[in-house]
Amino acid sequence: MAKGTGKIRQMNITETKQLLESISALDNRKVTPETIDAWHSVIGQIPFDIAKEALKLAQQDASIKYLEPRHVFGWAKEAAFRLDKNKMPKDVKQTGFAPQPTCTDHNKPILSCKPCCHRIHKFQQAHGDADLHSFAKAEIYA
Ligand SMILES: [Zn+2]
Repeated sequence: MAKGTGKIRQMNITETKQLLESISALDNRKVTPETIDAWHSVIGQIPFDIAKEALKLAQQDASIKYLEPRHVFGWAKEAAFRLDKNKMPKDVKQTGFAPQPTCTDHNKPILSCKPCCHRIHKFQQAHGDADLHSFAKAEIYA
């Protein structure tokens, strides 16, 4: 079952919950059944694979401050395009993928480093966006 394109199906509520939990891991938002329902009504029509990729893209989008379902929805088309591209056998791993800074403290990509994401988030809450980039550059990015 490793191969095959599989049928495109919409995500179920459990998958929506999974997405929200991974968002909550980054920004500590509260995930209630109501939140899940609300998100599901917006992004529930997107296949889970695409939604996961779209979420990743949305999380990398520096212009998004507080992630909303419409952001995932907005990135879904691009996500589907990228996933489709990745499926093509000729297309060997793209090297041109948006470079992500790594952190000095843990040497991890920023977006997969929970402590650093947390620091950035905390700074953003306290000081807003204006100095965020210089803070991150000075304190976090390697
Ligand atoms: Zn780190």
